[in-house]
Amino acid sequence: MATSRSEPYDVLVVGAGPAGLAAAAAAVTSGARVAVVDAGERPGGQFWRQRRTAVAPDQHLHHQLASYRRLLVAAAGADWYSGRTVWTITRPRRHFEVHTVSGPDEARLTLAAHRLVLAPGAYDRQLPFPGWDLPGVMTAGGVQALLKQHGVVAGRRVLVAGTGPFLLTVAAGLAEAGARVVGVHEANAGTGWLRSPRAVLRNAAKLPEALGYAATLARHRVPLHRRSVVVAAHGEDAVSWATVGRLDRDGRIRARSERTLPVDLLAVGWGFSPQLELALGLGCATRVDVDGSMVVAVDDDQRSSVAGVWVAGEACGVGGAALAAAEGEIAGADATGGPVPAKARRRRASAGVFAVAMHRAHPLPEDWTGRVTDDTLVCRCEEVTAGELRGAVDDLGADSARSAKLLVRTGMGWCQGRVCGFATSCLVAEWTGRRPSPPLPERPIAVPLTLGVLAEGAD
Ligand SMILES: Cc1cc2nc3c(=O)[nH]c(=O)nc-3n(C[C@H](O)[C@H](O)[C@H](O)COP(=O)(O)OP(=O)(O)OC[C@H]3O[C@@H](n4cnc5c(N)ncnc54)[C@H](O)[C@@H]3O)c2cc1C
Repeated sequence: MATSRSEPYDVLVVGAGPAGLAAAAAAVTSGARVAVVDAGERPGGQFWRQRRTAVAPDQHLHHQLASYRRLLVAAAGADWYSGRTVWTITRPRRHFEVHTVSGPDEARLTLAAHRLVLAPGAYDRQLPFPGWDLPGVMTAGGVQALLKQHGVVAGRRVLVAGTGPFLLTVAAGLAEAGARVVGVHEANAGTGWLRSPRAVLRNAAKLPEALGYAATLARHRVPLHRRSVVVAAHGEDAVSWATVGRLDRDGRIRARSERTLPVDLLAVGWGFSPQLELALGLGCATRVDVDGSMVVAVDDDQRSSVAGVWVAGEACGVGGAALAAAEGEIAGADATGGPVPAKARRRRASAGVFAVAMHRAHPLPEDWTGRVTDDTLVCRCEEVTAGELRGAVDDLGADSARSAKLLVRTGMGWCQGRVCGFATSCLVAEWTGRRPSPPLPERPIAVPLTLGVLAEGAD
């Protein structure tokens, strides 16, 4: 497959979500030669994900559309590489070489750039529970993506469970699209928000959005159950029942609180895991965020520890579209050597305190590991059960997610630990009494590729 190389761009942005769009807009505005690469066909990332055929984004499913349009106009002067996935980044000379593939024939293209802004976003964080591998048990983000991009309502009778405000977004979207949402089961009480009144007041603009979801759920008679979790999914070939239970103060299921409901879709969301592959591949330093996720460490200007690499959005901490856009604007402005608008820093600070409040109000339930039975699959790709993983710890001496992987293959399959990495790391930490180890190792290859592309290499 032909590989072409461009004259180095001043700034190349990976990702066209809120963070990447804002970075590109800021960089173009300051007069730089800018490229944007995104695996998606249309710009917008997860927050502004749209149907390919739609003339305009569906107003009900999308928020802050005025910001989206403003960013698109401001970033229009960039060169756009849509539908292209960055699989590795090298630095053979003084500039970076960004290696991409596109389409089923994996057409290759290498782009050169002096500076990079990485804004690859996040993916759904998942916790294993009995039956979670049944068809019809999906991540809340996956259900939302199907609805936004394809207009597909993934089930008729749906239970939404997990923790965080995103559950309300998903449940409201499904109810409006015609699904019968039998309940939203939020693991936390919601009172955690009361500990952060300032964060809420500084972000009062979010209230109308939250009230809108509450009104939609009330109109469709969707009950919200607090301190309630999904315990198991049941079914033969697909999920047909879900067991839920109420939590006590210690995060354990209350006696006699379990009940089983008929469903054909279980949408489960436990927050998001930052997408770190490209940053780790470049050697960027990381840190552990308030929600326990490993994230890229950046300074006040969104610079990573690697010279010439800025990182913005969920890759440096999960906090929503407004935070991502503010970080992107700062990264884009600083990467071109221009002044960083003070307004962007203020928006980042406000959205940042809200993100911390959100993580504190919606932690994972304390005893979730205690509900993972021995026969629960942890690694779905390699079909490793919790019992086998525990055997790696108890009998074979594994003391980290990494050593467990070498012994029983958790995280060695197609997803390379994106699905099971976080849970494996928490389970091993629980059983060994050690701190959770990083769920993702540093690798030169960010996405699954055919051997053909690998054989040609990133020359
Ligand atoms: C599945 C899912 C659904 C979500 N839905 C919503 C929602 O409906 N409402 C809401 O408020 N929040 C939603 N979120 C949270 C949302 O991600 C953030 O609030 C916001 O979109 C983050 O912006 P971002 O720019 O950091 O990342 P994103 O919006 O995720 O954008 C990242 C972009 O980077 C691109 N990318 C990643 N890796 C590569 C690569 N190797 N090569 C090329 N391109 C790459 C992706 O295609 C994507 O377009 C969702 C999250 C997920 C994971």
